Amino acid sequence: MKRPKGKGSTYERGTPGFDDKVLATSFNRRDPGQRPSVLIEANDVLDVINAVKRAKRENLKISIVSGGHSWSQNHLREGCLLLSMARFNAINIDAEKSQAIVGPGCWGIDLDRALKKHDLFFPIAHVPDVCMGGFLLQGGFGWGSTFLGNACESVIGIDVVLADGSLVHASENENSDLFWSARGSGPGFFGVVVRYHLKLHPRPKFQGMQLQVFRMKHMEEVYHWADHIGKDVPSSVEFQFVMTPKAMGIFSPGIEVFAPVLTNSYKEAREAVSFITKGPLRKKASLTPPLIPISTTNMGIVANITHFPASAKWCTDNMWSNAPVEDLMPGLKRIAETMPPAPSHSLWLNWPSRAGKRPDMALNLDAKRYIAVYGEWFDDADDAKYANWATERMSELSHLSDGVQLADENLGKRPARFTTDANMIRLDNARAKYDPENLFNSWAGRLKPPSIKQPVKQKPKLFENV
Ligand SMILES: Cc1cc2nc3c(=O)[nH]c(=O)nc-3n(C[C@H](O)[C@H](O)[C@H](O)COP(=O)(O)OP(=O)(O)OC[C@H]3O[C@@H](n4cnc5c(N)ncnc54)[C@H](O)[C@@H]3O)c2cc1C
Repeated sequence: MKRPKGKGSTYERGTPGFDDKVLATSFNRRDPGQRPSVLIEANDVLDVINAVKRAKRENLKISIVSGGHSWSQNHLREGCLLLSMARFNAINIDAEKSQAIVGPGCWGIDLDRALKKHDLFFPIAHVPDVCMGGFLLQGGFGWGSTFLGNACESVIGIDVVLADGSLVHASENENSDLFWSARGSGPGFFGVVVRYHLKLHPRPKFQGMQLQVFRMKHMEEVYHWADHIGKDVPSSVEFQFVMTPKAMGIFSPGIEVFAPVLTNSYKEAREAVSFITKGPLRKKASLTPPLIPISTTNMGIVANITHFPASAKWCTDNMWSNAPVEDLMPGLKRIAETMPPAPSHSLWLNWPSRAGKRPDMALNLDAKRYIAVYGEWFDDADDAKYANWATERMSELSHLSDGVQLADENLGKRPARFTTDANMIRLDNARAKYDPENLFNSWAGRLKPPSIKQPVKQKPKLFENV
């Protein structure tokens, strides 16, 4: 993706260059066919308010895009008003308070670079150009999330333009139901976030990566080991297994173990990853290089080049699972056998569940492991061959799933549970209160809604008058 330059503008459907402009908002190079009626690139809050008013006047639904990294291209809906927040990329850091205010169009890498100057840290996404807009609403697995929690746990406030055109602030103490909804509703959020208020963290002094690579013949042992080691993985280590047709170093099908580690010294980090370097499968690995000191920023840049090329077409899906590893094995093998060519891959992440640790918020579902599949291809002619691959593989495993994470989801193709029923009712109630006419497009698909309680009639508190 490219950072937007210059002032934003308004593009009407049917005018020259409209299609290109709309498709350029998406990281995924697929063309889903749907087109908005109008694309508005907002420059300031007044533009956002005017866009909301125009949508109401012209009876258009609103879709929002910030960084465009929704794999499912959630913002590309037929006949809507598409509001781009990509120019809202300001970063204001209050180092003394360890807080920042950032725009939804802010790239993770830009926030990280700004924080580095103050020795501060925020769990941004793993690749540099994912924007705060969608990432924080969805929950956000970031660097350091294994000890800091999902990135949205470090959101302390939001400024939102609502369906009635008012600008409000929401936090634990103000419009708290709106704030509660923003932390986990993802593409189902019903307002335009124009600013996030963030809590910052001390910057880990050492950032590095432990790698290990296995050939596919060791697949069963590798996943059993991943499962067995489970909770014993130190929280400073993110323990990921990436299965791919062209694994690093062996250039053939294999499993890459990626273990980013964030500590305060090399020594501490080496100790933390010793369960890999001295692990039971050490001798079976094709490759176990020494722990590499590398910043999260550079790890993200490398990941973009090796696993997430920008010119690709994608299909993705995911699941949380606590199922026994033996039960998952046939599905994992089928993923391996049917995977589109590299850089397609699947991820297994050992996850320290946040159940009982996170604050009360819309996001409240996870499990001890996260499995996601990423199919990539470049040629239009392969669309039919690969477009359903991710959905099919995850559907086959759905009986072993505890739900999905809003991050690699594809709710339009495979609606699945991403929070509890009780939270869905709270979300529906909050939407009925803040967006009673359903001005904002919601999740592209959802399971049958639980019974909806009567919405509470209460006027949101005004933050400022514009
Ligand atoms: C290459 C790649 C790597 C990724 N890595 C990670 C990762 O490490 N961790 C992780 O958790 N996720 C990751 N994701 C998933 C990503 O975090 C989500 O897709 C997220 O929504 C992207 O945010 P965005 O602003 O870039 O995307 P967008 O597509 O712009 O936003 C997604 C949706 O969020 C809503 N939205 C966006 N901005 C606003 C706003 N200002 N106000 C209201 N609603 C808004 C809209 O409904 C929009 O359709 C990755 C995705 C890609 C493509």
